[in-house]
Amino acid sequence: MLGSGSLGDEPMQKRPCAACRKKFTPNARVPEQRFCQEKPCQRERRRRWQKNKRRGDADYRENERRAQRSWGERHPEYWQAYRRKHPEYRQRNRLRQRQRDERRRGARTLANAVRVLANGDVWKVQIAVLPGS
Ligand SMILES: [Zn+2]
Repeated sequence: MLGSGSLGDEPMQKRPCAACRKKFTPNARVPEQRFCQEKPCQRERRRRWQKNKRRGDADYRENERRAQRSWGERHPEYWQAYRRKHPEYRQRNRLRQRQRDERRRGARTLANAVRVLANGDVWKVQIAVLPGS
């Protein structure tokens, strides 16, 4: 007779959580459970699920973007407070914004050049490109 705790005998063995690595006992109804019940781990589970979903589903991506945008429009104070509380986020955003601005400026300069070129005035092309670059 096998004693309790012998391998293969228990239906649900403890396993390490995929997020926090702490051992937990999976729910008997969810044999594939990979995350423990801690809130942060459940959030992580959802995050990974969404990431996976986003990768394979363009409609889902578009829906989500739309939902986020409209949520942000309805809660501008949330983002104001968030930015106040997270200076590093602000810093990163500023950097990104600058990169975007530079790219846009580059594109505009190019667009100017193309427009001027289409007008056939080659001298103006050089004037348009130099100051911005
Ligand atoms: Zn966990």
